[in-house]
Amino acid sequence: MAMRSAMHHAGATALSELLQFPVPAAGQRSISCSCGHQAGYQELRSKPVLTAVGEVTISRPYYLCPHCHRGQFPADVELDIAHTEFSPAVRRMQAVVGQEAAFDHGRQQMKLLADLEVTTKAVERTAEGIGEDIAARQQAEIQRAMQLDLPIIVGEPIPVLYAQVDGTGVPVVKKETVGRQGKTEGQPAHTREAKLGCVFTQTTWDNEGYAIRDPDSTTYVGAIETAEEFGKRIYLEAWNRGWSRAIIKVFMGDGSEWIWNIAERHFPGAIQIVDLFHARQHLWDLARKLYPNQEAEQRRWMMVHQDLLDEGKIEELVAALRAIDSPIWSWPTRFGSRPDISKTTRSACATPNSAANTYSWARASSKPDARP
Ligand SMILES: [Zn+2]
Repeated sequence: MAMRSAMHHAGATALSELLQFPVPAAGQRSISCSCGHQAGYQELRSKPVLTAVGEVTISRPYYLCPHCHRGQFPADVELDIAHTEFSPAVRRMQAVVGQEAAFDHGRQQMKLLADLEVTTKAVERTAEGIGEDIAARQQAEIQRAMQLDLPIIVGEPIPVLYAQVDGTGVPVVKKETVGRQGKTEGQPAHTREAKLGCVFTQTTWDNEGYAIRDPDSTTYVGAIETAEEFGKRIYLEAWNRGWSRAIIKVFMGDGSEWIWNIAERHFPGAIQIVDLFHARQHLWDLARKLYPNQEAEQRRWMMVHQDLLDEGKIEELVAALRAIDSPIWSWPTRFGSRPDISKTTRSACATPNSAANTYSWARASSKPDARP
């Protein structure tokens, strides 16, 4: 630690010397202003800047426009420290630690790893500032995608490309849920739905014939936003991954209506799959509703029906479900033509890691138990 402190100190001293800009020469004392007039040199002004080697002081020329009264520090623009007291490297560190964990934890990491003292607020501001930059760039690209203005990604045809979408409730602070209705009537919401999507390829099957996701082929998108906005986001991701040159296109999701609306709108013609894990979860929900508090009955019912699901006998399964005669539920209207078993449940999704690698494409696996 003493060694590092000494190195930092020496580095900061050397850097500070480099950052003492001279008074501009007589012929260079005016620069153009964005208003069209000329800004004149005033004086050398200094400010502290936190860099990777510690705090330094920069002293640089200040120019002021007599017409619009806008001040300028050309050196700040050149060094990318305009309107900030953190060097670009330190801002990157703040953004990295800030997106990993709680902002205060990020502050501690910066102290530990780089011996830099920053406030929790600074980590928050920088991380959010860079996050906003990224979000703005993504929005611009999404708009281009919607205007069919994206560059065509050329390359080899992709045998099988998957897009998958899911949603899950994330706990949020109160101000994020102002005016939002919670799950219980009259109660405010405590969570908001984070929408997540991923795109991946598949080229092989295991010995039993189950599709295997290609290792390291997955890219992810995620946001807390409306289904309409998210549809564009996942569409853009799929496009960038080569959706247009995929031979077999597959769209996967649970039974939620918003997900299948996205499938219809942005991924027409794709094979639609309710993933096995979610389908089993829905079957379990149904078993519990059919046999409340009768675990043995639930299990027996599941044994028969999960086999149909796992063996891909979907028509048979849907027929069996339609045949259920219940005074409580009006089955025929609840089960549409699509394998949409979700309307009986509003539970959030929780996909365990064991299910993450094996997907039912054409056939289904019996490995991951859907019982939450
Ligand atoms: Zn001006």
